[in-house]
Amino acid sequence: MPYTDPANHLVHLHVAEDCLEMPYTREIIRRSGLPVTVLAPGRTPGIAGVYPDNLDIGKRHLLLCRNRGRFLKPCPATREYRCCGYQVLNIGMNCPMDCVYCILQAYLNNPWLSFFVNIGDLFAELEHAYDAFPDQFFRIGTGEFTDSLALDSLTGLSTRLVHWIRSRPRAVLELKTKSVAIDNLEGLDHGGRTIVAWSLNSPPVMAREELRTASLEERLAAAARCAGWGYRLAFHFDPVIYHEGWREGYLQTIDRLFATVPRESIAWISMGALRFLPPLKTIATTRFPGSRFFYQEFIDGLDGKCRYFRDLRVEMYRFIHDALRRHAAGSTCIYFCMESEAIWRQVFGFTPDEQGGLPAMLDRSVF
Ligand code: SF4
Repeated sequence: MPYTDPANHLVHLHVAEDCLEMPYTREIIRRSGLPVTVLAPGRTPGIAGVYPDNLDIGKRHLLLCRNRGRFLKPCPATREYRCCGYQVLNIGMNCPMDCVYCILQAYLNNPWLSFFVNIGDLFAELEHAYDAFPDQFFRIGTGEFTDSLALDSLTGLSTRLVHWIRSRPRAVLELKTKSVAIDNLEGLDHGGRTIVAWSLNSPPVMAREELRTASLEERLAAAARCAGWGYRLAFHFDPVIYHEGWREGYLQTIDRLFATVPRESIAWISMGALRFLPPLKTIATTRFPGSRFFYQEFIDGLDGKCRYFRDLRVEMYRFIHDALRRHAAGSTCIYFCMESEAIWRQVFGFTPDEQGGLPAMLDRSVF
């Protein structure tokens, strides 16, 4: 089936009453053309059923509301695994696409999608954080609690973020997606400060475990268009999943990647093997009973997450890394998301500290 914009999956908007008259809310309502329910204070969208069984329905409903907490937070990393020092910009919750392994299924407890319309507060907070730490370099991403671009055809937020970051020499923005909703990025004066990123996987994993996402060829074609508009790119092999034919699968994806996208345009590529907290397995295997990968053998990691045995992780990482290095430009930073120093040394032959730390490695690759 040809891919369509994931925002088209929505059937209904819910709007918190105190946001209804905001110009940005009106803009989104107008663009969506969807029926709207206004919610009085304290009310939530009435989605039938019990979570997480009602996620199938909930993912078709979008709530426009205020973020009453902070927008910008350090990535919730753990001490035991090396982290890249990312700042998460929280633009909303949940996603209209549906990946079997998506951590949000276990992390959230509401079935609907939320998008925060008080973007005046968002930009004020960004501004404040940027000015308050004049010695810090900010790598900011919006793809932690949602997909960065899945709703962008409705919200147009990417345009505003690209514009803000454009004149901030100590910051870059990463927009991470599995969609091809990139139209709003065309023709922007981005100043090289926005990186457009796609998660990639072996083709059978993408086809079986990532519902309503764009195909490999669609993602790569979108990436090539962004490169043509002068954006730097990034790719994330995450989660790497062990499956029959994994070598051929990952090789095919890597070959197609470098056949489609100019290698000089790639700032960084990450790898991260499947990891999950035990409750996710219960939710995902109930929602997707045909999916088998949660039934493989795992160990409990130092952060309480289940992971493949170290030997298998190293074997898969080495294979993927070798294939990437055969093609990648010397300036592209290839790194792990959440792996121990021992794994870094086994696969790459060095630890991040020996290269000045992972944040510095990534910062260098941008320029
Ligand atoms: S695209 Fe990302 S946020 Fe959306 S369901 Fe998949 S893993 Fe979750």
